[in-house]
Amino acid sequence: MENKKQDTASALKDIISHAKEYGFVFPSSEIYDGLQAVYDYGQNGVELKNNLKMVWWKAMTMLHDNVVGIDASIFMHPLTWKASGHVDSFNDPMIDNKDSKKRYRADTLLEERAAQYEAEGKADVGKSLLQKMAKALDAGDLEAVRQIIIDENITCPVSNTANWTEVRQFNLMFSTQVGAVSEDASLIYLRPETAQGIFVNFLNVQKTGRMKVPFGIAQIGKAFRNEIVARNFIFRMREFEQMEMQFFVRPGTEMDWYATWKEVRMKFHQAIGLPASKLKFHDHEKLAHYANAAVDIEYEFPFGFKEMEGIHSRTDFDLKAHQDLSRKKQQYFDPEINENYIPYVVETSVGADRLFLAILCNAYSEEIVGEGDQQKQRIYLNLHPAIAPIKVAVLPLVKKDGLAEKAQEINRSLKFAFNTTYDEGGAIGKRYTRQDLIGTPYCVVIDYQTMEDNTVTVRDRNTMSQERISIADLKEKLGYAVSMERIFEKLLV
Ligand code: ATP
Repeated sequence: MENKKQDTASALKDIISHAKEYGFVFPSSEIYDGLQAVYDYGQNGVELKNNLKMVWWKAMTMLHDNVVGIDASIFMHPLTWKASGHVDSFNDPMIDNKDSKKRYRADTLLEERAAQYEAEGKADVGKSLLQKMAKALDAGDLEAVRQIIIDENITCPVSNTANWTEVRQFNLMFSTQVGAVSEDASLIYLRPETAQGIFVNFLNVQKTGRMKVPFGIAQIGKAFRNEIVARNFIFRMREFEQMEMQFFVRPGTEMDWYATWKEVRMKFHQAIGLPASKLKFHDHEKLAHYANAAVDIEYEFPFGFKEMEGIHSRTDFDLKAHQDLSRKKQQYFDPEINENYIPYVVETSVGADRLFLAILCNAYSEEIVGEGDQQKQRIYLNLHPAIAPIKVAVLPLVKKDGLAEKAQEINRSLKFAFNTTYDEGGAIGKRYTRQDLIGTPYCVVIDYQTMEDNTVTVRDRNTMSQERISIADLKEKLGYAVSMERIFEKLLV
């Protein structure tokens, strides 16, 4: 059996069409020709995404005694975004090509050039280019950023010219009005990150939960960014979902916790099925205004290694800024050392949609099966059973002779424990294929022998091998095979 995993750029096209054809991801409002960088999750996509969110949520809150969750609103008091720095500096430097009229992020153009140097074995040149860029951006010297683009002779991939405009800053926050009467209405933002909902609730949770530093607050929710260049399918969207955790620590201990969370998070991605060879850490050259250390966990997407998760040591920047602007003390009294302080924060922030895309890219498998002229291509999604949209398909071999009724009875007995589907239409091979395409790990087949000895066959998606097991054992055996416990076991240190 030849197993061919696609990893070329064209693989993304196959994944996008597979995602659409099998109910994972649709373009938003497609009947009106879609809305750029906005997508909807279909009947299988929502199950997969919910499973990813659940496994993250439980890995954070259930496995760590000192991490609890919240669910804050998307709208927040506008001063939140002043304190966080988003009003003044949540900008991307953009540059337009005058000939093609295409817009690019200036930093992305330079990062791509650095990656090109690295691929050519000139990592040092790439590194010093990134340092030069970081210096110019830190100094707010946009003319210098433009000059680096010119010096590097970077051209627009569409027009092939270097006829660039100035570099300008572009704020990524969406705003709208709140209030019934327009004169009274005030400007309000759609949150560009979920983290601030955690910071403003830090003391609420600490006090009501009697939490002791170090402790963490986790949250899953929508975030909105008016991305200049939206591309690569659900990798960069204008409306997306984040899974963030802010871990509050005693000042001076943050680097230890930063190292710990780096390892914990890397382990998580491997436990849900992403191979170590396709994951790597990437330290930030240019630190955000709030950070004293930052690293990305990158996944090798079909379009290269790109950020999937950010881990940041955020110091006391956010709590201090909220304290200053709200004039409400954000201090914690540490009984162990008898001191009041504003905790430092280590953040882990992963995009649910980027994780979904990584999982889908990794799962998409093509292989040639059969011998001689019986050879054919098989496509299946190699998803970890615990995150697959449907865990078990119950299939009567034929509809007659009581097989369908028996199968429905089995389906009823399993469906309270995990997601199942019942399918009696068409040849059994076709029904297997339908399940392979959406990543269902197990097919339970009810045949004539079932009617005699109460056994069924269980077909494994990846190996296509079949095992006969007793109906009485089905729920327990399959229950464990598809449970999130199997992921959690790999996370415990
Ligand atoms: P990028 O450099 O790709 O714009 P970022 O560094 O701005 O990302 P963070 O602010 O650290 O991203 O956000 C944390 C996570 O949220 C990212 O690692 C990513 O998984 C996710 N994320 C950020 N922006 C988007 C987006 N536009 N679409 C989908 N996911 C996103």
